[in-house]
Amino acid sequence: MAETKYIFVSGGVVSSLGKGIVSASLGKLLQARGYNVTIQKFDPYINVDPGTLNPYEHGECYVTVDGHEADLDLGHYERFLNIPTTRANNVTTGRIYQTVIDKERKGDYLGKTVQVIPHITDEIKRNVKLLSKNKFDFVITEIGGTVGDIESLPYIESVRQLKWELGRNCICVHLTYVPYIAAAKEYKTKPTQHSVKQLQELGIQPDILVLRTERFLQHDLIRKVALFCNVGEEAVIQSVDRPTIYEVPLILQQQGMDAIVLKKAGITPGPTPDMEKWNEFLQRKARATKTVRIGLVGKYVELQDAYKSIDESLLLAAIYNDRILDRQLIHSEKITPDNAAALLKDLDGILVAPGFGQRGIEGKLAAIRYARENDIPCFGVCLGMQCMVIEFARNVLGLEGANSTEMEPNAPYKVIDLMEDQKHIINMGGSMRLGAFDCILQKGSKARAAYNRELIQERHRHRFEFNNEYRSRIEAAGMKCVGENPDSGLVEVIEIPALKWFIGTQYHPEYNSTVVNPNPLFVSFIQAAIENNNK
Ligand code: GLN
Repeated sequence: MAETKYIFVSGGVVSSLGKGIVSASLGKLLQARGYNVTIQKFDPYINVDPGTLNPYEHGECYVTVDGHEADLDLGHYERFLNIPTTRANNVTTGRIYQTVIDKERKGDYLGKTVQVIPHITDEIKRNVKLLSKNKFDFVITEIGGTVGDIESLPYIESVRQLKWELGRNCICVHLTYVPYIAAAKEYKTKPTQHSVKQLQELGIQPDILVLRTERFLQHDLIRKVALFCNVGEEAVIQSVDRPTIYEVPLILQQQGMDAIVLKKAGITPGPTPDMEKWNEFLQRKARATKTVRIGLVGKYVELQDAYKSIDESLLLAAIYNDRILDRQLIHSEKITPDNAAALLKDLDGILVAPGFGQRGIEGKLAAIRYARENDIPCFGVCLGMQCMVIEFARNVLGLEGANSTEMEPNAPYKVIDLMEDQKHIINMGGSMRLGAFDCILQKGSKARAAYNRELIQERHRHRFEFNNEYRSRIEAAGMKCVGENPDSGLVEVIEIPALKWFIGTQYHPEYNSTVVNPNPLFVSFIQAAIENNNK
């Protein structure tokens, strides 16, 4: 395609309507038609990136291959589109301002007063267009927050300007909520009308409306929304609640959303693609009758989005093993050596989650000990892997008080320690070991068998690491270091070969699992859990 087309997705009425899923689904549909698509997210908060936000504030922090700590919506984009995102796919207000202020300090504005319009909006627009340098046919930009928020005004203004500049190469999609009022037994469109009015007041007429509803709406309601909002009836699309987010592309396709986008962009749509692989995946999901029960041990289990990529990776791996995932959330603070058996005995497999800080650590150690001593498939991710090493050092090697220096700087046995190049870092933002690194997997290991490859690349997000000073003692006692970074010698994967499946990864395999390409280690873990259950 000669010119890149830009699609903006904004949201109204309430937050959490699934703009990310709608963006990813539309991206998928355009990709299925053979277009080159990318999706980016603009977040209106002032943090430079979400890396310093805790999961209570912001859910999971996702990590791109190039080491950017990003919004979890990028995880949806990658899982749907099966292509990696980068730093350019997630921009915050903090980063926009940082760039503008840096330029101002350098004198780049030649004495001009630096203002929201044009300087901030120009920087936003520059970031929108930055991605099209990679020859994308479509750049979909999701605007975080809700229209009407003070924070998102500069973004909305930038979209207004771009719509003016780009003409039909720019399409605005607005997602709103149509609530069901049980007492009146009616769906209500007034909030949608108001939200669109608000957008219009800011100078934007949406081209397409997506209504989030519980059930499909009667046609007269659609007609009403179309009439009040200046949008053609065919361009009022419904995003109806589904049991799985992976059905959303199909609902949007059934309503012709991708074809409408193409027509608005002046492109003849051509035949509708059959989404064969996607359908196959959903059919496989629907066919499964047996269950695999996995316990997720972490300190944020009560939060819906704290372990998003792990949840999705477990789900995808279960589907590829023809199983329904029964995910049991187990709060690490509630596990003790005394109740571990009662809490964990009915699980087919246990995943010990990543994390930071001391809270919940002793519970993780108790869970790992139970899994190791009872040979229950156990998967430790990042901090989970570090806990596997600590537990082994304490209870197998007898190194009492062994710990990570993150938890106990004066531990007698520092089996997990700060990386050398981390020791002098003061700035907490963006300064961990971040992004994809090479890892060589040892022949004969279960990890190698799972990936079926010697050299892999997986993404990291940590400051601490396996302390190689203890390597020979740990290996001699039966825990093997089977994955290593070829440049630094850092241990990336440990396993206990004598057990059915006991693997810990310093990296986060969950960032690298997509609908058509589930992460091999997750698939292998679920397989082991199923075999464990069969016995
Ligand atoms: N807190 C640990 C570290 O920084 C593990 C981090 C994680 O689990 N992502 O090394």
